[in-house]
Amino acid sequence: ATPTAIMVGTERGAKVGILIKSAEALEGACDLDTVVLDKTGTITEGKPRVTDVRLAAGVDEVELARVAAALERKSEHPLAQAVCDYVDETHAGADKDVDSAGFEQVAGGGVRAQVDGAPAIAGNARLMASAGVDVSALAPQADELAAQAKTPLYFALGGRALGLLGVADVVKETSASAVARLRRMGVRTIMLTGDQAKTAKAVARQVGVDEVVAGVLPSQKEQKVRELQGQGHKVAMVGDGINDAPALARADVGIAIGAGTDVAISSADVVLMHSDPADVATAIELSHATMRDIR
Ligand code: ADP
Ligand code: MG
Repeated sequence: ATPTAIMVGTERGAKVGILIKSAEALEGACDLDTVVLDKTGTITEGKPRVTDVRLAAGVDEVELARVAAALERKSEHPLAQAVCDYVDETHAGADKDVDSAGFEQVAGGGVRAQVDGAPAIAGNARLMASAGVDVSALAPQADELAAQAKTPLYFALGGRALGLLGVADVVKETSASAVARLRRMGVRTIMLTGDQAKTAKAVARQVGVDEVVAGVLPSQKEQKVRELQGQGHKVAMVGDGINDAPALARADVGIAIGAGTDVAISSADVVLMHSDPADVATAIELSHATMRDIR
């Protein structure tokens, strides 16, 4: 495109809150045939709330709250924020004299620490299995929550499951129409998430994406983009998190959610200032208009 066309396109984008960082990004958006979207914070609001509590036999809710808070206070994950808000709102002070040490985030699984001197973990079924915690009594309840598009988080202390919290994250109002617009443009949509398959599929059904890839580790997001490119696809990645940054950088066009992390924003070619997934479709239309002007 001519410098003038690029300037006009960039300015039109800026006016509607679509920040295009380079001429290559504006031109490249024209050839996209695949859009990969992160779930949490991109398709959903990314402000999860605890909606359900399920206790293991003989455990009371305050005990679960105490261990949950001890584990999650130090995590920066949006799920951790939801757990801390729940404890503060319903069991304030449950963890006031808890002793917690050696906090660690486990990629794609959850968190771990020593709580009151015993090993404690919070996270998904995969993490529980790898720590040898038996969650079979709670698993049917976790499945039930997942079928409602909620994320079940297990908590265990000293190798014993205490219970689980169901966390719900509302799908953004425009996610479904954004996906429908992309489909009409002939663009395939794929949702990528570290969340478990059942929850991911329930969200995908609400939104109408063509494909879902669940249970991915942060490093696998970039790998998936590369794999699609290897098959000859032109790929945009849309994400908000630290764990999306490598995939954003790898994609033909990396698109960050404006409300996302600084790392995501600086790794991207395009920033959606209104954090609206519909602006992905608008950005591609803008690119088509820009290229049409000069072809
Ligand atoms: P995503 O943000 O796409 O869901 P992550 O890799 O950040 O991907 O998380 C993957 C999964 O690990 C989550 O769905 C959750 O089950 C678990 N997890 C991550 N962080 C925490 C945490 N602080 N507390 C409990 N579980 C967590
Ligand atoms: Mg995210």
